[in-house]
Amino acid sequence: MTTKRVYTFGNGKAEGNAQMRELLGGKGANVAEMNLLGIPVPPGFTITTEVCNEYYKVGQDKIVAMLQDDVVAAVHHVEKLMNSEFGSVKNPLLVSVRSGARASMPGMMDTILNLGLNDAVAEGMVQKTGNPHFVYDSYRRFVQMYGDVVLGMKPVNKEDIDPFEAIIEQVKAVRGIALDKDLSVDELKDLVRRFKAAIKAQTGQDFPDDPMQQLWGAICAVFRSWMNERAILYRKMEGIPDEWGTAVSVMAMVFGNMGDTSATGVCFSRDAATGENIFNGEYLVNAQGEDVVAGIRTPQQITIEGSRRWARLQGIDEAERAAKYPSMEEAMPEIFKQLDGIQNRLEQHYHDMQDMEFTVQEGKLWFLQTRNGKRTGTAMVKIAMDLVREGLIDEKTALLRCEPQKLDELLHPIFDKDALKRAKVITQGLPASPGAACGQIVFHADDAEEWHNDGHKVIMVRIETSPEDLAGMSAAEGILTARGGMTSHAAVVARGMGKCCVSGAGAINVDYKKKTVEIEGVVYKEGDYLSLNGSTGQVYAGEIPTRAAELSGDFKALMDLCDKYTKLQVRTNADTPHDARIARAFGAKGIGLTRTEHMFFEDKKIIAMREMILAKDTAGREKALAKLLPYQKADFKGILEAMDGCPVNIRLLDPPLHEFVPHDLAGQQTMADEMGVDVKEIQKRVASLAENNPMLGHRGCRLGITFPEITAMQTRAILSAACELKKEGKNPQPEIMVPLIGILYEFKQQKEIIVKVAEEVFQEYGIRVDFEIGTMIEIPRAALTADRIATEAQYFSFGTNDLTQMTFGYSRDDIASFLPAYLEKKILKVDPFQVLDQKGVGKLIKYAIEKGREVRPELRTGICGEHGGEPSSVKFCASIGMNYASCSPFRVPIARLAAAQAAVEA
Ligand code: ADP
Ligand code: MG
Ligand code: MG
Repeated sequence: MTTKRVYTFGNGKAEGNAQMRELLGGKGANVAEMNLLGIPVPPGFTITTEVCNEYYKVGQDKIVAMLQDDVVAAVHHVEKLMNSEFGSVKNPLLVSVRSGARASMPGMMDTILNLGLNDAVAEGMVQKTGNPHFVYDSYRRFVQMYGDVVLGMKPVNKEDIDPFEAIIEQVKAVRGIALDKDLSVDELKDLVRRFKAAIKAQTGQDFPDDPMQQLWGAICAVFRSWMNERAILYRKMEGIPDEWGTAVSVMAMVFGNMGDTSATGVCFSRDAATGENIFNGEYLVNAQGEDVVAGIRTPQQITIEGSRRWARLQGIDEAERAAKYPSMEEAMPEIFKQLDGIQNRLEQHYHDMQDMEFTVQEGKLWFLQTRNGKRTGTAMVKIAMDLVREGLIDEKTALLRCEPQKLDELLHPIFDKDALKRAKVITQGLPASPGAACGQIVFHADDAEEWHNDGHKVIMVRIETSPEDLAGMSAAEGILTARGGMTSHAAVVARGMGKCCVSGAGAINVDYKKKTVEIEGVVYKEGDYLSLNGSTGQVYAGEIPTRAAELSGDFKALMDLCDKYTKLQVRTNADTPHDARIARAFGAKGIGLTRTEHMFFEDKKIIAMREMILAKDTAGREKALAKLLPYQKADFKGILEAMDGCPVNIRLLDPPLHEFVPHDLAGQQTMADEMGVDVKEIQKRVASLAENNPMLGHRGCRLGITFPEITAMQTRAILSAACELKKEGKNPQPEIMVPLIGILYEFKQQKEIIVKVAEEVFQEYGIRVDFEIGTMIEIPRAALTADRIATEAQYFSFGTNDLTQMTFGYSRDDIASFLPAYLEKKILKVDPFQVLDQKGVGKLIKYAIEKGREVRPELRTGICGEHGGEPSSVKFCASIGMNYASCSPFRVPIARLAAAQAAVEA
């Protein structure tokens, strides 16, 4: 059997359907599905994503030969349904050639409209339609797009505007016209000639006249656009594999630029920024598809409600709005009704918010695209919870619909309300993507990247953005544009990234060459500070203070849903009461890791700590430890109190002592004075602590083995704090964790000390506190002998940072020198310190849990490395029956969602 490479659709029939997005791309699959639903879609055909991959293997000539018969047959299919002929002068068919991957990548690849035109066909169309303005407007657009996408006619420098736009500006300047649509027929014809000449001059290529040759050129260019820089970058950011490839959909053109009863637009079944259940969108009369998103003309709103809101934000009064910028609901009420009906049907059909494209040709509505709409994190949560309440999806589906990573946006700081009241609004744009952003102004994408890499926070200010600006947008805190509506490129991409964006701020005047933006008479330069409120569209001069976000409303409801389904609990890594409280507010069920070493760095504590390390003998050490004890006890009390009623896992001292001692003369002198010895003594002791490979040296439980008095002091501090709290009526639940165990006997000896000191403390306070003693599994040998260690340890906490380091033999601090090459050469897919290596490190963890539970069935296991907040790693941990994951406070909700998803998927 031969592989089917081309799938046709049209007139309510289709060879594909919505389930076939892997093969037909999202766009191709959904135009097929819309046909099957009886929604008006122009006929066409889709070439599969597999052909794209073949294209990269065999090249253009072989692909064209391979597709020849199928494409010619499919073109005939379209001709029949459209009752016209591709390349015919009398009755021509024009098509669009569109890209479309499995996952939506808005605007990242290329599309060409009005293909099939040449001088003769254009004249034929004039005869047929009697509308030369429309024909030559379409023709000049075609030459423009084909020149750009297929023939590579691009701006030469970053300050240059698009070469075609430059020519249009010249032609418009002659008669002083403002809008493209006011160009005369002769001027449009002139543009076609000038465009072709400019292409020839810059690229050396003749513009092809033969429609079939045009079609092949466009199909192959769309395949190539899969590998353009911005598409590659977008895939990297979104984690989309390069192997997927793009499909190519060829469709009969419908024209939104045939006059005042024609239009084109984009609409959403719900608000993509806030998630509110409000149908919304934008359209332009007498225009073609790209115009709305390109932000060249200010589009009008679809609904009256949206239009009034827009006018308010723009400072336009109702009379002017109704006269100059009427909504589609007012201007084309019949079409609006149809549009509203179809958007509703599509949302009901797909059970999700839809992002749709349509065109009206002389009073007839056509749908060109539908997809599950990109949305902000806030909208993602609200829409999922609303759909549950509306009965459109069940709770488990809602959990799976939300991307854990995207919750990050809901955790970003918001502007402080009081500071906001005092701040001065300098202008107003559209609230394109919510968030609070402060930063220094830059005007170009590469500057944004550069400044960002130098540690600056930047706001990218543009007239409008284009897909070329992707990397810069990603580096910026926020984006401000002069032109473009809620569906402009800047708005859509910013929402997808969860980045704050204010678009269409018409009062700002950007000068790319001078690198300034003028707002209401004030000139702001590159490097000046601006603040953006993406939820209101307000722009402020200077920096506005922010405060932490909180868990409430739908976000809280989603998190409650997580608790209902999850099996794996989420704890937090916290070293201070402050962090513990934040994490608790985000739903942490305890502390999975408290590192005691951070507590030593405050001024008085560090002196006592150094004294302990630099002491000559046990007596000297014990004297210093006695000074440290009250500090440690107070710290532990604070944390246990902040997490009252929940387990708090405290790790005994872990890092090499060398990290604590002073390496500068002044610091060494202070210690000499403090301890009443010569500075030389101190220097000798510091030198003696130096190690060639400290991470594999004298650290972890090896400290407690050589200096048992440290373990004793820390145990005393932890349990005294717990006893005091218990006497105050609190419910402390301490866990004491011995780090870096590799051998059962290391653990046994440490445990003996802990148990002995515990008895002393309980005697002293006349009260007992329940506590557990466990260990960190971070040395491969510990994982391999887990069944021995579990005979003594009550719980395991997998320290996956060290475990990864020691399993791979990669130093965490030195990996940067070779990791990029490993990723580039595809030896590693991801950084194993960020995403848990399931095949190697994960296997050790799984083995250790199984072995440990053989001897201690109730053995509690958790993860506390960086991986504890990374969704795929959390899911893995859940799948191997781990009890909890522990992560930094701001990742707690992300881990909770990932854990719930793991339970639902299991
Ligand atoms: P993107 O993926 O960048 O959105 P599309 O392939 O969707 O690119 O096309 C770009 C624009 O052209 C869209 O607004 C779309 O609606 C319009 N368009 C595409 N095909 C046609 C067509 N056959 N007739 C009219 N407009 C079209
Ligand atoms: Mg599109
Ligand atoms: Mg460790």
